[in-house]
Amino acid sequence: MNYHIILTRRCNLNCCYCHGGEERGPETELHYSLDELAEFLEKDDNVQLMLYGGEPTIRIPLICKLMDRLPDARFTLQTNALRLNQIPPDYVERLHTILVSIDGTEAVTDEYRSKGVYQQVLQNVRWLDKIGFRGDTIARMTVSQQSDIYRDVNHLMGLRNPSFDHVHWQLNVVWDAENNWSDFNSWVANYYNPGITRLVAEWVAKMDEGIVEGIVPFLPLAYTMLTGKTSHLRCGSGIDTFAIHANGSIGVCPISPDWESTIVGNIRETKPSDIRAIMKVSEPCPSCEEYGVCGGRCLFANRERLWGVEGLYKICETVKHLISTIRARVPEIKKLIDEGHIAIEDFDYPRYNNGCEIIP
Ligand code: SF4
Ligand code: SF4
Repeated sequence: MNYHIILTRRCNLNCCYCHGGEERGPETELHYSLDELAEFLEKDDNVQLMLYGGEPTIRIPLICKLMDRLPDARFTLQTNALRLNQIPPDYVERLHTILVSIDGTEAVTDEYRSKGVYQQVLQNVRWLDKIGFRGDTIARMTVSQQSDIYRDVNHLMGLRNPSFDHVHWQLNVVWDAENNWSDFNSWVANYYNPGITRLVAEWVAKMDEGIVEGIVPFLPLAYTMLTGKTSHLRCGSGIDTFAIHANGSIGVCPISPDWESTIVGNIRETKPSDIRAIMKVSEPCPSCEEYGVCGGRCLFANRERLWGVEGLYKICETVKHLISTIRARVPEIKKLIDEGHIAIEDFDYPRYNNGCEIIP
């Protein structure tokens, strides 16, 4: 199964949608030993560990110890990349995927994350190229009201030195209060949904040249529509993906150990087999006409309803727009596959759960 390892709750940034740098207190250090963690993981024969925080790279010696202690696990890292170049290259090479937080253009990234962050991130992604990192490097955006999805995705996909293999994003919804948005509905109607329509149109147009760009949310949705293979909750939370919090508790999702409803065990007392498929999304998702493609978007949002039921439906409008926009182009994509311009395998992403939630 997949486990987010929360190496610390502290962060070296204080982004406007997260306020991570304010996260202090006793759970900034691990309250379990690596032997205890290894004993828990030994009972799972297919372990994938996602190094996560807070900001995991403020615990680099711990990352190295963990990778030494668990030589057979597959590792991914989700980082703001400010200290990425401090990780010894031997350890970086073992990472299957690195998700780098960057929100789009320099102006929007620095506006959300702090002045100078964009340039520092790019410098450290260039360092990955320099040391010969061959894994998947993903630009992972948080999309909020200063974002222009069309501009920002194109900006990141168009970078060449460094370049990203894939671009993924998550909407800044539910965990950030709705009243932090000045008008979510009109942002969706006037900016986000039209931007998605343009991005999908250009994504499909490039397929004529044999190019399937690595825009993460589009790939697996198109794959589902092309193959008819439906999906469960795409982030895997509560099914085959869990978070091991700094205090040793096991949550269905990395979002926070403070939400008691998300805690399903503890590494000292629980076996991996006890928690597999322990929690699934509830209504309205299983009855939704798009459930097989969407999978339920987010277990946390489905359960906690922090924006209320109305808020959940507002977010679903973005999901339904994304799905219907891709669906409208599926006959064209099928034709391009039949003619040999592109292959169905181009859409089979990710091979392993790499921390991309897929549905923004
Ligand atoms: S579109 Fe909304 S209601 Fe439908 S499955 Fe996705 S999250 Fe659930
Ligand atoms: S999509 Fe929702 S349930 Fe899944 S990992 Fe993210 S916050 Fe958790």
